[in-house]
Amino acid sequence: MTTHKHIFRDPVCGMTTEDPGAFTAYDQDGETYYFCSDHCLARFKENPHIADKATEVHHEHGHNHSHG
Ligand SMILES: [Zn+2]
Repeated sequence: MTTHKHIFRDPVCGMTTEDPGAFTAYDQDGETYYFCSDHCLARFKENPHIADKATEVHHEHGHNHSHG
């Protein structure tokens, strides 16, 4: 049997931990989010969509700043 390590990620500040006891768990819409501090949890409660932003695939936008 292998021990599967799970990384918990704070969607607000992006901090990660392998110890769920170190983070504060919070359930929203059937999803469990983990926060490094009450401060981050409070921010998440104010802006729940912050998690969507954090979990979306990061890709570069080709902004064309054409200074001519
Ligand atoms: Zn945090």
